[in-house]
Amino acid sequence: MVCNIAVIKGDGIGPEVVTEAMKVLDAVGAKYGHTFNYEQLLMGGCSIDACGEPLTDETVAKAKAADAVLMGSIGGNTSTSPWYKLPPEKRPEAGLLKIRKELGLFANLRPALLYEQLYKACPLKEEIAARGFDMLIMRELTGGLYFGKRSTTEVDGVTTAIDTLTYTDKEIRRIAIKAFDIAMKRRKKVTSVDKANVLDSSRLWRKIVEEVAKDYPEVSYEHMLVDNCAMQLVKDPAQFDVVLTENMFGDILSDEASMITGSIGMLSSASLNETKFGLYEPSGGSAPDIAGQNKANPIATILSAAMMLKFTFDLDAEGDAIENAVKKVLEEGYRTGDIMSEGGKLVGTDEMGSLIAERI
Ligand code: NAD
Repeated sequence: MVCNIAVIKGDGIGPEVVTEAMKVLDAVGAKYGHTFNYEQLLMGGCSIDACGEPLTDETVAKAKAADAVLMGSIGGNTSTSPWYKLPPEKRPEAGLLKIRKELGLFANLRPALLYEQLYKACPLKEEIAARGFDMLIMRELTGGLYFGKRSTTEVDGVTTAIDTLTYTDKEIRRIAIKAFDIAMKRRKKVTSVDKANVLDSSRLWRKIVEEVAKDYPEVSYEHMLVDNCAMQLVKDPAQFDVVLTENMFGDILSDEASMITGSIGMLSSASLNETKFGLYEPSGGSAPDIAGQNKANPIATILSAAMMLKFTFDLDAEGDAIENAVKKVLEEGYRTGDIMSEGGKLVGTDEMGSLIAERI
């Protein structure tokens, strides 16, 4: 297969970690007979420096023309970098919001996986952590409270602020279909999270999820109230496979889920639109504190590349090969500084990438 990938290395540790993900993809290409063509594009601070804006129309057009985008992260030190003296719409993060909108990315996927070898980093009680967990939070990204009509008014000395939470059946259906499709590639379970005891939008959410579920008889599904889900995530995270939810609930639950894994450097993510196209990036930021020092953990970005192989290219075996190579390297005791513990073998960003590539 020929895969055309737009590569946005970005700022800070972005170039270091994306280079390692490309190294691993090339190892996959050599072993399984695929060609990965990369077109490197600028976004964020490096684009401000080169072109005067964080994301040019030319970059957007090239990203749209690719099959998928593999991204590092963008931005710098928000206190000291000159990029943060610019007006908000000219800062690095404006590029991120614009590219997500331009590409119509409505489904955000964040896996939260606790590796057996790293369970000591998990802040949960040992008996819970020792059972491990492997879930995927699927968050709706373009609707709900963050995009509803809002206003603040003052009448007779009383100030009132209003936000509205709106969802259409179409918006719910398209993300529910994605969740069930992805559950079919995993352990075939969907937990749909809402607040249907209070909110109309959640009652519609439930109704549509039930309709979609009928088309996936192999997938078991359940509904869970968001307050209960927040508790279950720390009480028994092993019960979850795919967790499907709306924008704000997903924002909060995905951060909670990533926290219990114990390491930001291990967490991949994907944002998808209605086609097979996706943007794949690590969950963390550009880590300016360790940039350029060969200290960053490239695993989140390498695992994002594995998601790209599975979700955009349907190369499931190849994606599994990357995930297994990561597990192997961890089993052998190799660690970057962020996941280092006693007895581990400390390696830099490039060595970690090479070790994983060699085990494909
Ligand atoms: P951050 O995620 O960059 O860093 C938080 C901490 O985690 C730091 O100590 C950092 O060293 C560590 N860390 C992050 N990724 C790591 C990795 N792969 N390996 C080892 N350690 C890692 O968050 P921040 O400091 O709040 O933000 C820094 C910059 O990143 C800001 O400009 C912010 O706007 C930007 N940012 C970008 C994205 C994105 O591109 N999607 C996301 C979040 C933050």
